[in-house]
Amino acid sequence: MEEEGRGGGEEYLFKIVVIGDSAVGKSNLLSRFARDEFDHNSKATIGVEFQTQVVELDGKEIKAQVWDTAGQERFRAVTSAYYRGAVGALIVYDISRKITFESVKRWLEELNTHCDTTVAKMLVGNKCDLENIREVSVDEGKALAEEEGLFFIETSALDSTNVKKAFEIVIREIYDKVSRRIL
Ligand code: GDP
Ligand code: MG
Repeated sequence: MEEEGRGGGEEYLFKIVVIGDSAVGKSNLLSRFARDEFDHNSKATIGVEFQTQVVELDGKEIKAQVWDTAGQERFRAVTSAYYRGAVGALIVYDISRKITFESVKRWLEELNTHCDTTVAKMLVGNKCDLENIREVSVDEGKALAEEEGLFFIETSALDSTNVKKAFEIVIREIYDKVSRRIL
């Protein structure tokens, strides 16, 4: 028993899915989070991929298994296997392309048909470095997040703004829910 609280014993593996329209920066958010890399000529590979990142929370080791649609979303063919077992989701749009923001509700609907409503959800307005060509205001993002009961953050995979923070907030929320046996 005593060993338990010292980091031994319990194992946490959280599956987190990243969804949103093509080219909003999902793959780059993931590579920034997992490897601190930005890919300037990212190729939209077809097929599902995930990366596992270990995060420490309250002295516990948590494995965040983050899934990337890797191109499936272009054909609106994200499979149910992609969503299966997810406990967290990042719904990403591009602040410089309004159309990707308008798709958020559809992505949420899809998420809700495949996952339990208790999934920890974060609305992510990516490419906040593109302030000069912004099409979606911070307030619009906030308002949608409030309406849909999501966390909200703006990020830049390019200059690293808030990327770690976005994942950490979701992971913290999942951890809290798991601790309270909501998830
Ligand atoms: P995905 O299709 O959602 O996986 O998007 P990608 O990660 O492949 O990125 C699509 C394009 O947007 C690429 O040309 C990236 O270089 C670019 N991109 C991704 N994130 C950012 C960002 O934060 N800022 C800017 N300016 N460009 C980005
Ligand atoms: Mg991609």
